This record gives sequence, C-alpha cells and structure tokens, in this order.
Amino acid sequence: MKHIYINQVGFTKDSTKKAVLNFEAEEFEVKNKAGEKLFSGKVTKFGTDKISGEETFIADFSDFKEEGSFVVCAGDIASAGFTISDAVYHKLMKDVLKCFYYLRCGDALTKEYAGDYYHKPCHMSLATVYGTDEKKDVTGGWHDAGDYGRYSTAGAVAVAHLLYGVRFFGNLLDVKFNIPSENCEKGQYPDILSEVKVELDFLMKMQREDGAVYHKLTTFCHAPFIMPEEDKEELFLFAVSSIATADFAAVCALAYSIYKDFDSAYAGKLLAASQKAYEWLTENPKPLLFYNVEGSNTGQYDEAEDYSNRYWAAAALYEATGDESYYEDVRDHKRKAADYGDKHAGFGFQGDFLTCMGWAEVAGLGSLSLILKGADDELTKEIMTRFGSEADRIAKVGTLNGFGLSMLPEDYIWGSNMELLKYMMILAVADRFVASKPEYKKAIHAGLDYLLGCNSMDVSYVTGHGEKAYKNPHLRPTAMDDVDKPWPGLVSGGPNRGLQDEKASELPKDTAPMKCYIDDVSCYSLNEITIYWNSPLVFVLAYFGA
Ligand SMILES: [Zn+2]
Repeated sequence: MKHIYINQVGFTKDSTKKAVLNFEAEEFEVKNKAGEKLFSGKVTKFGTDKISGEETFIADFSDFKEEGSFVVCAGDIASAGFTISDAVYHKLMKDVLKCFYYLRCGDALTKEYAGDYYHKPCHMSLATVYGTDEKKDVTGGWHDAGDYGRYSTAGAVAVAHLLYGVRFFGNLLDVKFNIPSENCEKGQYPDILSEVKVELDFLMKMQREDGAVYHKLTTFCHAPFIMPEEDKEELFLFAVSSIATADFAAVCALAYSIYKDFDSAYAGKLLAASQKAYEWLTENPKPLLFYNVEGSNTGQYDEAEDYSNRYWAAAALYEATGDESYYEDVRDHKRKAADYGDKHAGFGFQGDFLTCMGWAEVAGLGSLSLILKGADDELTKEIMTRFGSEADRIAKVGTLNGFGLSMLPEDYIWGSNMELLKYMMILAVADRFVASKPEYKKAIHAGLDYLLGCNSMDVSYVTGHGEKAYKNPHLRPTAMDDVDKPWPGLVSGGPNRGLQDEKASELPKDTAPMKCYIDDVSCYSLNEITIYWNSPLVFVLAYFGA
C-alpha cells in the first residue's frame, strides 16, 4: 500500500521537516485543511534500507515555515495531518509528564485531577519481607508498567531521566501539568518536583535500616487484568541487591542537588539516605545481584554486574557533595568495569561504558553528573570526548535509511523505543554541551519524527498524539476501566524483532524490524508501557524547549 509517513504531531517553524514516501513520485505538495496548495518540492529517492525493508523517497519541506495545520500530498495520496507551530510540543510534554500521576499507586489520585482515569486507593496493605514475618509500610510511588509492580532500579532510572532533564534544561521546572501541588519551604514545588517526590518518598521506604535497598515490591505473581484496587494479593519485599542500593544512592544524591533549592529539610533527608546506602555499598563490595525466587514471575530486572551502578552512585554523590573520596571511587569502578569487560568475552557495555544509558547499564547517568560538575581533569575530558564520538556514531547510523533514523536492525529489541530515546539523549547532551552539530540536530529530530508517526507502521507511538496514534497499550487499568481511550502521553515499547508474545509470534519471521509491531493489548513484548520509556521522552522534549 502507498503511504506518506510523517510526524503526526508536527514541527516548529524553523526545524527540519520531512515526510517519507514508500512509493515513487516526482513532486509533493503541502496543503492546508481547505486543500489549498501552499508549498511544493521535488521528491528525492533514498532506496531500500535494512530496518524498514521498504524503498523510500523523501519529501523535504524544511523551507516551509507557515504556522497552521497541514498535510503532505503526492498524487492522490495524503499523509496524516500535522501542525507547524513553535508551541507544537507543549501539550505533548504535559501529557507525557501527567502519565506519572496516573501511574501513582496508593491513595494519591483524586477525581479532581485524574478525572475519568481515577482509580480507588490500591496496594495499601503492609508488605511482608519475603521469607520472614516482618511487615513494612511501603505504600506510594508509581506502578512500573503494564503491571502493578514497583521496582527500585526502574524507578530510580525513571526519576533520573526527569531530574537530569531539570538539571540540563531548566525549562522543565516551568511545565504545568495539572497535578496537586506539594507544599515546601519555598511555598510550592514546581509540578515536576511534586510528582517526582511521590516516587522518591516511596524509594526511601524501600531502604532497610542498615542502608541496603530492597530490589522490588510486588505480589508473588503478576495480577490478572483487573483494576489496581482489585489486586488484593499479599505484597512482598524481595531481597535487597547492590544494584538497587547503588541506583538509590545515586538518584537520592541527584535529587538532593535540586530539592535543596526548594526545601532544605527534605533535601537533607535525601542526602542522608543516599550516604547511608553508599556506606552499605562500601561495606559490601561484592556484587549482590538479584534473581526471582522460584515460581515468582514478576519483573526480575536482573543485571550481570553492578559496576555501572556503583559508578553512578559515586559520581552523583561526588557531584552533590564535592567530596573527593567519591571521585576516587568513580575512577575505581570505571577501572573494574574495564577489567570485567576484558575478562568476559562478548560482554560489552552497550555503546561504551561511559555513555551507556539503559535501565540496567547506568554509567552514562553517572557521566551526566560529572558533566554537570564540569571538573577540568582527564576523566571529565574523556567523558566529553566519548559523548562526542558516540553521538557521531549514532548520527552516522541515521544516514543508512530513508527515515534518517539512528537505529540498526539489532536495536529492534524489546522496548526498542527506549533504545532510540537513549540515543536521542546522548545526541541532545552532545549537541548542547560537547559540540553543536547540524547532524546531531537532524538525527534527534528524525528520532522524534519516527516516534510520532514517521515510520513504516504509519503510527504514533504516543497515545493521544497523532491522527493514527496507537490505542491499545498492554496496561491493566486502561484495558479494564470504562473509558474508551487510554490516557494520553504513554510511550509504547515499540517494534521488537524478538516477537516474544503469542500474538506477536503470528507475524512472519522475516518481517522487517520496523514492522515488528501490533497495536494489541495482549502484545506485552511490543506494546507495553513503562515509567522509564516515558521519562527519556521528557528529557528529549526538554531539549526541544517544550
Ligand atoms: Zn497500586
């Protein structure tokens, strides 16, 4: 079928603008809603690429700078509609942030702010420390994803994307997304800090007396598809891990560096919790990894080592306190990670240790702290160089396909949209703080265009944003509530060559990576949502000034 793929949300006036055609045409036109032709140009041929499997043609209309609502046409084929305006991403940013509010666990939602998406208080019972009779109050925080689990490492990483966004792009503090405001010493917190505090308060409850942090809080098995308040199974705090403890130490130190300007008492509590976790890590130098107990099937969030986590913790504490002993630890963990990589053939931190930014490989987040610290030394220079070289590599990948997209076939794994967003974060940091380059800007924009509809599925991967936005996330409350549409602003995991669920496995094995996607609620391997897939989009939209 003939398609014109386009970013269905739109563009700012001066940005690069393109549509991708999967059919040959001489010319294209930009028309307004009344059908008037306002711009025309020549279509250029790219050819076939490995990620879409399609022959692609490009319609570049960067020179068209009128505000309004438009479509791109070639012959009798038209794209989905889109907008050109300098405020084009503002609503998107608000909705992507508001999702954290809708994902709140406990008694935090109100009808005033949640509207039709209100749910009754959930998961309010005391949790049992697994294998003991000990009970603990661990209410609050955000549900992690399509399930109702709450996981320390995933929560810390999501908070980190939001808070590094605040540190790098201060405009995030001005975004209002209609949530109840939390009072603080300075009056009221900015909305983003009110929302993040919900998760920080929860994470602090996950810390044990001795400083270690429980890896996760879930029922023994995933709940069936029911509303959260109907999930009454016993809650368990599963074992502590060094990965959760390190991520917790890191994110509390990062949070301290921001909250201290609003509420010194709360910031002090964050720093004390961070340092207590760090002391535990120092006393327990061996990795304490995490694996599910037999029979339990909730998220494992396992990691093979903890060097990247300890590096992040030390870097964030060094940035927050200036204490050189943390900086010595940063160098030490970097050395140990290199040794580990040398000894484990085939093991590599994705891309590179200093820039890796997954939910598990978090050293890149530590490097962000060191970039913020801005020391004039060897390691900081090395980090800046690596961010630059990784951004160069990522931007170059974008020249291999007609979409300008920095994705290789092997990047289409479970949660491929996070792979893309990680790359966009690296490009954004490099563009703003290492060296501003047109190819970085182009690659970031191509990533945003892809997420919002310029892809071979012709679908926007953010609910409620785009004429053809996906509608069926693998997410229990939106599947079970009485509301027709999911709440807006949810990022889908996106295409995944692994096709790991039953419905997905019906797709032919030779499906092109970009087309390994079905908008179906049962497709947990293609269409789930998570807090740490929404959070990097907030960072990227902040770069765009939204
Ligand atoms: Zn809950």
